[in-house]
Amino acid sequence: MKFCVSYLAVIAGVLLLLNTYPLRVSQDLVFRSKATTLQNSVSVMVYSLSGLDVLNEENVAAAMAVVEETGMSRILVTDSGGKVLYDTRETDSAQGRYTFYSEIVQALLGNDAFSCTYQNGAFRSRAASPVLYQNQIIGAVYAYELDLEQAALLEGLQSNLLRLSMMITLIVLLLSVLLSAALTKKISQLLTAIREVREGAYSHRTQIVGHDEMAQIGHEFNRLVDRLQTTEEVRRRFVSDASHELKTPLAAIRLLSDSILQTDNIDPQTTREFVTDIGQEAERLSRITEDLLRLTKLDSGVLEAAAPVEVLPVLEQVLRMMSLIAQEKEVDLTYGAQEGCWVLATRDEVHQVIYNLVDNAVKYCGAKKTVQVQLRAEREWVTLQVCDNGPGIPEEDLPRVFERFYRVDKARSRAAGGTGLGLAIVSDTVRRRGGEVKVANRLGGGCCFSVRWPRLERSGS
Ligand code: ADP
Repeated sequence: MKFCVSYLAVIAGVLLLLNTYPLRVSQDLVFRSKATTLQNSVSVMVYSLSGLDVLNEENVAAAMAVVEETGMSRILVTDSGGKVLYDTRETDSAQGRYTFYSEIVQALLGNDAFSCTYQNGAFRSRAASPVLYQNQIIGAVYAYELDLEQAALLEGLQSNLLRLSMMITLIVLLLSVLLSAALTKKISQLLTAIREVREGAYSHRTQIVGHDEMAQIGHEFNRLVDRLQTTEEVRRRFVSDASHELKTPLAAIRLLSDSILQTDNIDPQTTREFVTDIGQEAERLSRITEDLLRLTKLDSGVLEAAAPVEVLPVLEQVLRMMSLIAQEKEVDLTYGAQEGCWVLATRDEVHQVIYNLVDNAVKYCGAKKTVQVQLRAEREWVTLQVCDNGPGIPEEDLPRVFERFYRVDKARSRAAGGTGLGLAIVSDTVRRRGGEVKVANRLGGGCCFSVRWPRLERSGS
């Protein structure tokens, strides 16, 4: 409706102009031409009376008799007092009476007067000039013309314009209804799609045809919903995976505690074993919740303020901690590092990343294997590489290992105390600080994880 009304308002303005301006201009042209013709005719008559010292009915009639046909509807000649001495109108003649037409009054005051009106389908023009004898006003000549021909022409033009305007109005009305309907159809299509998606139908897409802005908005909306759908799927999967992960240790705790409660005369050794298992499951629960909290914090986008961190001392601290476990598993844990590896992050983040990678390498490489850690400062990057010669990761799983709760070998990961969140935390933490993580299998077996952070230039390093 609004589109329709605004189109019509614009076109009404244009039509109003079309119906008034040309008519007014033509009317002005006629007025100007009338002024010239009437004043010329009056001048000719004044000229023919110019030799007379005084005007009376006889000499005026004689002088006017020789004036050529002027085509005027009426001609009046008055004396200086306004008494009509000559009148071309035969019926209802004003001869002998006083007349006070404003043009005659003006002429008797010494001025040339002219007026023209367009009314009731006729141009009515009047002109009057004084008749002078030795600079004395001795009378006035008045001419009146009634023109129906030019008025008819102007009326014809007016009715043509009106017909044209009506046709244009009809066409515009039709077009505006069609155009508005086409436009509002697209808008309502988009609105329907927005409502559907708001209600949770993430698979709904809008089909707006064409290449105009509305079609582009529709296209952009579809792309937005694509992203929303992906995010929603990831969120749902995450929630269901998280619940599943939390449910498993909880079920184990419940089963173990029920067994203790329901078994009569349970021996202290078995009780101790069950309670130890309960403790391990509780530890796993707390590890999962800790990791979940860490990920939620990363997702919220609120980062702790970054500060320059030297990676080497953190690496050495992690390796000191891990060396005991490595010794236990008879894993040969070695490292090589360069000085001057500074990054912009927090010490905890760097610790977490190194710990998760080294812990995985030791966990999954198997007994009597080697784990090598390399820390290098390249031109713009600080690179940390953790390589092992364990079984490696199947090629088809490589792109997915950074996904939340993704495990190559579920049973093995659980047995090793894994939560399936370690690599997701590494990847998110590093990416939030402008870095990246990659993984690749080694030719001779095992795999290499490499992390790189943007390098921080420190003077003296
Ligand atoms: P988890 O807590 O299970 O270790 P991660 O996110 O740290 O979870 O790792 C995801 C999966 O990637 C692991 O379950 C494991 O199957 C695989 N993985 C990680 N590091 C290694 C490695 N160094 N060698 C072989 N497989 C690995």
